[in-house]
Amino acid sequence: MNKFEQLGLNESLLKAILDLGFENPSEVQEKAIPLLLEKDTDMVALAQTGTGKTAAFGFPLIQKIDADNRNTQALVLSPTRELCLQITNELKNYSKYEKGINVVAVYGGASITEQAREIKRGAQIIVATPGRMQDMINRGLVNIKNIDYCVLDEADEMLNMGFYEDIVSILSDTPDEKSTWLFSATMPQEVARIAKQFMSEPVEITVGAKNSGSSTVSHEFYLVNARDRYEALKRLADANPDIFSVVFCRTKRDTQAIAEKLIEDGYSAAALHGDLSQAQRDGVMKSFRGRQIQMLVATDVAARGIDVDNVTHVVNYQLPDEIETYNHRSGRTGRAGKLGTSIVIVTKSELRKISSIERIIKQKFEEKSIPSGIEICEIQLLHLANKIKDTEVDHEIDNYLPAINNVLEDLSKEELIKKMVSVEFNRFIAYYKKNRDISVSGGERRERGDSEPREFSNNGAVRYFVNIGSRDNFDWMSLKDYLKETLDLGRDDIFKVDVKEGFSFFNTDPQHTDKVMDVLNNVQLEGRRINVEISKNDGGGRRDHNNRGGRRDSGRRDGNFAPRREGGFRSDRGSRDGGSREGGSRDGGFRGDRNSSSRREGGFRSSAPRNEGGSDRAPRRSENFGDSSRPRRSRRD
Ligand code: AMP
Repeated sequence: MNKFEQLGLNESLLKAILDLGFENPSEVQEKAIPLLLEKDTDMVALAQTGTGKTAAFGFPLIQKIDADNRNTQALVLSPTRELCLQITNELKNYSKYEKGINVVAVYGGASITEQAREIKRGAQIIVATPGRMQDMINRGLVNIKNIDYCVLDEADEMLNMGFYEDIVSILSDTPDEKSTWLFSATMPQEVARIAKQFMSEPVEITVGAKNSGSSTVSHEFYLVNARDRYEALKRLADANPDIFSVVFCRTKRDTQAIAEKLIEDGYSAAALHGDLSQAQRDGVMKSFRGRQIQMLVATDVAARGIDVDNVTHVVNYQLPDEIETYNHRSGRTGRAGKLGTSIVIVTKSELRKISSIERIIKQKFEEKSIPSGIEICEIQLLHLANKIKDTEVDHEIDNYLPAINNVLEDLSKEELIKKMVSVEFNRFIAYYKKNRDISVSGGERRERGDSEPREFSNNGAVRYFVNIGSRDNFDWMSLKDYLKETLDLGRDDIFKVDVKEGFSFFNTDPQHTDKVMDVLNNVQLEGRRINVEISKNDGGGRRDHNNRGGRRDSGRRDGNFAPRREGGFRSDRGSRDGGSREGGSRDGGFRGDRNSSSRREGGFRSSAPRNEGGSDRAPRRSENFGDSSRPRRSRRD
C-alpha cells in the first residue's frame, strides 16, 4: 500500500495520482487529507505555495463531491486569475477518473456570460477570484447558497490584495453549515478575523514555521526632510538599477504628479489611479507586466489586485492614512517565494508611524540613509561592469571586429576598460557632485544597532564591497548572518549591509578589517571565490586600492572614484570636490535624460539637474554596451 492509499483516498483518485507521478504525499497532504476525509470540519492550514496544498484540499474535495448531483457544492476562492486557472486545471486532473465532476473557473478579464453558461450546465466546483465571484452573485448568475465546502486559498494574499469586503460578502451568501478550509502562508490579523467570524472550531495544521508577515519582504525606511521626498525617490531608484516597483502615493493628484515628474526626469514610470479609464489602466498594466515600466506610481485603490510577480520594491512615497493599508502595499512584492523590499520615505513627524506599522506587521524596519551621489555612482558603475560581463555576444558583431580592432589596437586592456566604462561615467560624474546630501539622521530611533544611521563621515567605519549579492540568494539579513558566522563576529560588528544583485556592501569597525580581508578573500561560496575589497564608500575614510588593509582617513574624501577591481575604473577627480565628505555637497545620482521620456533599464542614467544653466539637457545616453533593451517610451495614460 503506498502512502496515498493510507490516507484513505479512493481508487479513481489513486489512479489519477499515479498519472500525476506523485510518489509520496507532501507534509500538508499527509496532515490535511485524512482529517478532511474523516469528517466535515473547518480547517486552518498554514502552508506556503509550492507545498502541495492544492492537492491537500483538492483530493478530499473531489472525493467528497457528489458527482451525480449537478448543483454547485464547493467554492474555491483564490487571489489571482493565474492561480484560479491553475487550481481549476489541477482539480480537473485529479478528477479525470471520477465521472461527472465538472470544475469551472470564474475570473475577471474573460466573458462573464460564457462563465455563467458553463455554471448553468452544472458545476459542482467553482474556482473563482473574489471580484468576479461577487460580480456574478450580484447579477444572480450563480447560486452558492447550498454549498457544502468553501476553500479560501492563499487567504493572506487575497486580503493583501484588498478583497476583504468581497470575501466577507461572498461568505455571507453561503450556508453556515458548510465546511470552510482556509489555506494561508501567514496569519495576519485580517485572516485571523475571517477565521473567527466564519469558521467554527477549525482544526489547525501548520507546515514549516508559522510566521506573521511575509518573510520574503524586508522593510526599510529612509528619513528625509519633506522637501527632499521626491529627490529621495529618484536616488533610491538610481541606487537600484534593476528596480521594478510600485510607488504608492496617497492621492490621485500626487500619483499623477509624481509619475509625470519621473517621466520628465527620464524614468520609465506611469500613473495608475481611478481617474484613468479602464482601457488606460489596462494599457498601463500591460506595460508594467511587460516591464516597459519600471516605476508604477499608484493609489491604494487602483493598485488593488495587482498580481505581478518579480516586483523588487514597493515604495511608500507617502505612508497611507490607514496604517493597516501598509500590509496591502508591501504584499505587492516578495511574491512567489521571491525576495522583495518595502521602502518607506518618511519625515521626522511621521516617524512614530513606523513603530505602529512594525507592531502590525510583526517585523522590524531597518533604518537606512539615502545613498549619496558617490554611492550611486559606484553602484551604477559596478552594475554596468556586471552587465558587460554577463552580456551574451551576438556573433553579428564579428563582421565589425576587424574594423573595431583597427581603431582600438593601440590600447592596453586597462586603457580599454577605462575608456569603455568612461563612456558612461564621464557624463554623469559631472552632475552628481553639485548636489547635497539629503539624508537626515533619525535620533528617535536609536534603539537598534542596525537601524542607526551611520553617517559616512563620522563614525570611522570601514565599508566593504563583496562580490556576492541577491543573485546568490542573499538579502541583507541573511548576508549579515553569513558574514557574522564566517568571520566569527558579533551581530553588531557588521552593519549597513546593502545587498545588490551581483554584489553587496557592508561596514565594520576598523579593528575587524584585517580579519575581513584575510578570511573572506579565502572563502568559496558554491565553488566561487569570494572577493572582498574596501569600498570607496567607506565610513568617511578613503578606499585606497594600494592599501587593502583599510587605512582609515576619516572625514574627508578625496573624491577619487578609485578602482576596486583589477584594471578597474579609475576616474581620478583629484581635488575637484574640495575635500568635502562623501555625498556632502555633490550628490545627485544619475538622473534620466528627462527629455527622452524614456529610461534604459538598468543602465546609467544621466541628466542635468533642472536648474543647471544653459541647456538643462543631459547628454543622451549612448547606445551602450551591456544593455540590449531599446529605450522605450514611458506611458502616461
Ligand atoms: P501547490 O503547493 O499546490 O501549488 O503545489 C506545488 C507543485 O507540487 C504542483 O506542481 C503540484 O503538482 C506538485 N505536487 C503536489 N503534491 C505533490 C506530491 N505529493 N508529490 C510531488 N509533487 C506534488
